[in-house]
Amino acid sequence: MNAVWINRYASLGPEFFTELPATGLPSPHWVAQSPACAELLGFPADWTEQGDALNIFSGNTTLPGMRPLATVYSGHQFGVWAGQLGDGRALMLGEIETPNGPMELQLKGAGLTPYSRMGDGRAVLRSSIREFLCSEAMAALGIPTTRALCITGSALPVRRETIETAAVVTRVAPSFIRFGHFEHFAHTGQHAALKRLADFFIEHHAPECREAENPYVALLDKVTRQTASLMADWHAVGFMHGVMNTDNMSLLGLTIDYGPFGFMDAFDPGHICNHSDDRGRYAYGRQGNVGFWNLHALAQAMLPLLSGDDGMSHDEAGERLLATLETYKTAFPTELMRRMRAKLGLLTERADDQALVDDWLKLMAAARADFTITFRRLADFATAPDAVRDHFLDRTAFDAWAQRYTERLAAEGSDAAERAARMKRTNPAVVLRNHLAENAIRAASEGDFSETTRLLKVLQSPYDEPAVAADAALPPEWAQGLEVSCSS
Ligand code: AMP
Ligand code: MG
Ligand code: MG
Repeated sequence: MNAVWINRYASLGPEFFTELPATGLPSPHWVAQSPACAELLGFPADWTEQGDALNIFSGNTTLPGMRPLATVYSGHQFGVWAGQLGDGRALMLGEIETPNGPMELQLKGAGLTPYSRMGDGRAVLRSSIREFLCSEAMAALGIPTTRALCITGSALPVRRETIETAAVVTRVAPSFIRFGHFEHFAHTGQHAALKRLADFFIEHHAPECREAENPYVALLDKVTRQTASLMADWHAVGFMHGVMNTDNMSLLGLTIDYGPFGFMDAFDPGHICNHSDDRGRYAYGRQGNVGFWNLHALAQAMLPLLSGDDGMSHDEAGERLLATLETYKTAFPTELMRRMRAKLGLLTERADDQALVDDWLKLMAAARADFTITFRRLADFATAPDAVRDHFLDRTAFDAWAQRYTERLAAEGSDAAERAARMKRTNPAVVLRNHLAENAIRAASEGDFSETTRLLKVLQSPYDEPAVAADAALPPEWAQGLEVSCSS
């Protein structure tokens, strides 16, 4: 908190942002803080009592050196060019040096900006709790994500489907640059600014690309690999983002903009977690392909970087960029297979593994087996086979697969106890299912934030058996009708 605040993004120039003060929360109160995120930033344990932390993170006051600004970006929403978007309710406060490198801090929900369009610049407590918990849960799962330091709340009414109350989440990341930032400058023909953005990103966030024969091609290659890896991470834990628009895709390969996300309960590869996504563009099983589609939008936006005045011809540049994207076609399945092998407890690679994994997932889908619990129980397959088998109505099909699995494990001399321990470090016991978030939200709406804090703690150790069995159990009956939408 006593850090030196800078804002390197502001050096990019006025085309990139609008500097403006936050519209803070009236009479703010603390809702929750993440000790893990505070530690990442190098904040002292009592950081909330220092200075005027509550007002700073509610948007009511700034520290010397902070330069609150909203950045402009564009993007494709649900596959359609949406034109200019931008930080409609997020404000970058600035950047600080931390033990983990420079980090940007951003307030989400701190008022109107020139990019708010029809919105009110606010975030409701409900969606703020979801974003806060999921950011920290994903980090604990080892999945790249923006982080969340804290939530502050207020009695300020905010209209969504019903009247809710306002909150501000403080988000943390080395950079919040999105595919949509590149698209913005390409589609508006601001090619000099586009080049400045790419050079800025390379300098600060991808310095190794500078050494490449073509730094921009190297950058696209890096983003392609990171995106493939992120999509595989999501699939491996049953995470669905819900709104994979290109403005919600991080150039650092972070999970960003938590809205109507979900974790898979009963396994259905076609599951759509976002109630507003009627066509299922962002269904679970499509995320890998959508990542690829989004990378095409980024590559398209990078064309002017390669085919500038003394650059390649337009066709040649297009070919170079498309060729770079090709990596994705092998990177995504390879990364996913690597995670699936680990989830099944396999240490070596064999030709039949793909079929073993595919058939396992087919069995799970046919039985609508719970994604998290079934993988977790598979860890104890040797000692408690029935605990897995009981998830499958078609016992004959399960037994046939189990026979192949047993043989496959034997073929690599797998040690049951060692494997069980290893599998429990890769198959989480607890993920942020909608009903868990809902419990925290319902209590918080009544002014009780203890469930948010308790749940955060549980999510911070997702591979441990939780003290409260219900945190790792099937969703209860009342949760069957829970729906999440873009409204946040
Ligand atoms: P999202 O789908 O949440 O990623 O948001 C898409 C765009 O809408 C972004 O430009 C957001 O900043 C903007 N937006 C979403 N909700 C609001 C709001 N309540 N007020 C202002 N802008 C918003
Ligand atoms: Mg967004
Ligand atoms: Mg959002």
